[in-house]
Amino acid sequence: VTTRIPLIAGNWKMNLDHLQAIATVQKLAWTLRDKGHPFSEVEVAVFPPFTDLRSVQTLVGADSLDVRYGGQDLSEHDGGAYTGEISGQFLAKLDCHYVIVGHSERREYHHEDDGVVARKTAAALKHGVTPVVCVGETAADLEEHGASAVPVGQLKAVLDAVDAASDIVVAYEPVWAIGSGQAATPEQAQQVCQALRATLAEAWGDEAAARTRILYGGSVKSSNIAGFMAQKDVDGALVGGASLDPEEFAAIARFR
Ligand code: PEP
Repeated sequence: VTTRIPLIAGNWKMNLDHLQAIATVQKLAWTLRDKGHPFSEVEVAVFPPFTDLRSVQTLVGADSLDVRYGGQDLSEHDGGAYTGEISGQFLAKLDCHYVIVGHSERREYHHEDDGVVARKTAAALKHGVTPVVCVGETAADLEEHGASAVPVGQLKAVLDAVDAASDIVVAYEPVWAIGSGQAATPEQAQQVCQALRATLAEAWGDEAAARTRILYGGSVKSSNIAGFMAQKDVDGALVGGASLDPEEFAAIARFR
């Protein structure tokens, strides 16, 4: 029997500079420690802006904090003449455990299509950083195609492009639920996460489907996390706004 360790991940987006990051990660780690948070049972990770990562690395390393961290994006290239881009090898060098790939804000504002997302996923894996691959439908997609078709298609594009033995995390984030205060219902989340797991099974086999974690994201708070975590195919959450407050984020990690 494969047990998937839940992952509570906080996407800070373009919030909190490196000084604020130090205070926030410290407060988060101390709150988790105070509450006796079992890190081996529920993993906690934060995704600060790039300029914060070195400070977060130093803090986490110096205090052996039970918090993982990662980048919010990476380049599909390893290095070279790509002004403003960040390579997966730079993230690996900062001990980033994870990197978010294909967030809907990147897809929308930076025109990242499925091909770019697949190549970024491959780049992350190449450098030993676990990609958190985001998929999700817009409100228009939902109306036109139902909930599962678009996220399933987005995931397929990635699964077809990388090795089936790869360690990835999938995040189902309905675009209409992000930052809207209008979360999906736990049943809606389960329905799509189940379809995503079936897609994993089809493309990569049953073992990969059983071991790969699928997160729900979109207006998750401490008051609604339990409903999502009770679903069979939801293995954690990707949290935006509510991850900026370390006490609220720690409360989300204590969903049980
Ligand atoms: C996100 O952008 O990944 C997200 C889930 O945001 P929020 O929790 O603020 O809806």
